[in-house]
Amino acid sequence: MTTKIASYIEINKDALLHNVKTFKQLLSTSHADFGVVLKANAYGHGLTSVYAQIQAEVEAIYVISPSDAFTLRTWEKQNQISPKTVVVIGAISADEMQLCAAQQIDFVVSSFDHLKILKSLPPSQQISQLHIFIDSGLGREGFLLDEVDALGKDLSNLPSHFNIKGVLSHFSNTEDVTEQNYAEHQMKIFEQGAQKLETALNKTLQKHFAASAATVVLPRAHFSTVRVGIGLYGIWPSSETRLSAKVLHPSQPPVLQPVLSWKCPSQALKTLPAGSFIGYGCTYKCAVNTRIAVFPVGYFDGYPRLLSGKAFVLVQGIRCPVLGRVMMNHIVADISHVPLQPHENHVVATLLGKDGNESISVENIASWSESIGYEVVARLGSHLQRVVVDSHGRAQ
Ligand SMILES: *Cc1c(COP(=O)(O)O)cnc(C)c1O
Repeated sequence: MTTKIASYIEINKDALLHNVKTFKQLLSTSHADFGVVLKANAYGHGLTSVYAQIQAEVEAIYVISPSDAFTLRTWEKQNQISPKTVVVIGAISADEMQLCAAQQIDFVVSSFDHLKILKSLPPSQQISQLHIFIDSGLGREGFLLDEVDALGKDLSNLPSHFNIKGVLSHFSNTEDVTEQNYAEHQMKIFEQGAQKLETALNKTLQKHFAASAATVVLPRAHFSTVRVGIGLYGIWPSSETRLSAKVLHPSQPPVLQPVLSWKCPSQALKTLPAGSFIGYGCTYKCAVNTRIAVFPVGYFDGYPRLLSGKAFVLVQGIRCPVLGRVMMNHIVADISHVPLQPHENHVVATLLGKDGNESISVENIASWSESIGYEVVARLGSHLQRVVVDSHGRAQ
């Protein structure tokens, strides 16, 4: 490996495949298909890096943006892999609808405006595979239950190059609670809506509803396919979900393994005399002579500025406090307690992940920065290099 001068992300493929196995076990009684969500650059883990590791193990891929779906199709061609079911669940333009049809990418219809665009498209040889989004109580995109009768009529006279393949919805608070009353209510709405559509179209539709939390704690929500996002990456949707999982599976609670580590080589080491300030705003003043390491990583890369004065990094398995403010492209850590050899003028910090007996979790960063795990990983810069490694840290 060439010497790195910027921060980089390691993706542990063994952990990723462990999580795949864990979710497949949860699906063994419902026999639902295993669909995974690779939106937001695979939750910051790297879209094609993750896809390459898991494509043989999953039945469907869900992304938000059409461009991510096109990237996956290109990658499949380059690697001579047959195209998987890929579904665009986010906003889509008229042009993108046509490109999706041409590349056998399913997409979601979530409003009458959407449907109008669909109907205005020129006739095509390619069949568009469509999924209908029902808003069962999230108050986001999708058809309300009392719109479904009109929708059914509209859909039943669509031209034959449009095939209604599935119906989906999304839970509102499965991860925020340990009882699932609102989820049960949402499922009732969904089932009524799906039933109405099936009657209007006189066919059975694929039904998908559950994200990570419902896949773990609400087996009745598995339906035909699940859409597992955050859990695939070894991150629990919330501590409530983790707790509910233990209650629901007391003898063998599911174990998830974090997939991502974030590391950064130092840019400079030096000793600042007592009384020196560190960083913008002079918020930190050294009480004693302080050995510092400067790391070329900052909020531009996704290291939250709210970590200022709260975070530590790991150097040689030792916690080193981040001093002063997190800057756009720099942080400074106190490495006074790291036993350096006299000639050592370079260290590597672990910003996220394990080093020796210490570790910094996504949950740690999330709580220090008053956020959630989802935001921490989704904001990791897409410019950062992703390296796939095994559980011993060996590059693959
Ligand atoms: C993000 C998302 C998911 C996955 O959610 P996780 O909690 O990350 O598993 C599933 N479905 C939809 C519609 C989503 O937007």
